[in-house]
Amino acid sequence: MGLLQDKKGIIFGVANERSIAWAIAKALRREGAHLAFTYANKTLESRVKPLAESMGSEIVLPCDVTVDGEIDGVFDTIKERWGGLDIVIHSIAFAEKNELKGMFMDTSREGFRIAMDVSVYSLVAITRRALPLMEGRGSSIVTLTYYGSEKVVKNYNVMGVCKSALESAVRYLASDIGPRGVRINAISAGPVKTLAAMGISGFRDILDVVEKKSPLRRNITQEDVASTALYLASSLSSGVTGEVIYVDSGYHIMGV
Ligand code: NAD
Repeated sequence: MGLLQDKKGIIFGVANERSIAWAIAKALRREGAHLAFTYANKTLESRVKPLAESMGSEIVLPCDVTVDGEIDGVFDTIKERWGGLDIVIHSIAFAEKNELKGMFMDTSREGFRIAMDVSVYSLVAITRRALPLMEGRGSSIVTLTYYGSEKVVKNYNVMGVCKSALESAVRYLASDIGPRGVRINAISAGPVKTLAAMGISGFRDILDVVEKKSPLRRNITQEDVASTALYLASSLSSGVTGEVIYVDSGYHIMGV
């Protein structure tokens, strides 16, 4: 029997087969979970639907996380179809391309607002709606963050500030939902080549530095992240909440 036999999970953040969310979905499914998927817009629908169907998923829903009505629609459907929920994977971030180069101090008011809304507030909005379906069944929420939250990473700019806020949100949410038996944690993933990552100017240089300087002397893969997500989604991590767990080949521990 799998670690997640007959558990119900929803995956926010698949864009294509390189998405971290897709690797996580494969790991959860392998361990027996039934999964629902969302897609951000019409263009992505045609990519996400076949992927979801390839693992026998019957629930694939539109969800632009800047639209409250779409988030409501997702959780209304989950309530109707499943009645409860064990796992939420939040693997979503966005900043306008022009905010991911040059100086952070040049971030526009609108660029800041959009990045925070999509990348941080969405976790709050999703958690609030998921909670009634998740309480009292050992459920778990997992989000994705990056080291640019705590140290300056060239060109990461507003997204670094978003990730700081996201990690803080994880702690506040953990305190809110813990008494109702639901856990929430973040994985701080090392750089991986995905659609979102390619929007960061000079991303290749970041990969090179990790390969040279991390203790493991290699970059991580989506599958490395997925294994930790599996641990956080399952009862193996039953006593863990409000944490940021690094899956970065150990890069963050290094000084000079
Ligand atoms: P990705 O491009 O595959 O995934 C990003 C997802 O965000 C996409 O599915 C996209 O549709 C979704 N999204 C953007 N705007 C949205 C909106 N308005 N509504 C709903 N969904 C929206 O890239 P990824 O690298 O797999 O990113 C997943 C998460 O991992 C992000 O939070 C990212 O910051 C984080 N992360 C990535 C790396 C990396 O190097 N790739 C490292 C650490 C953390």
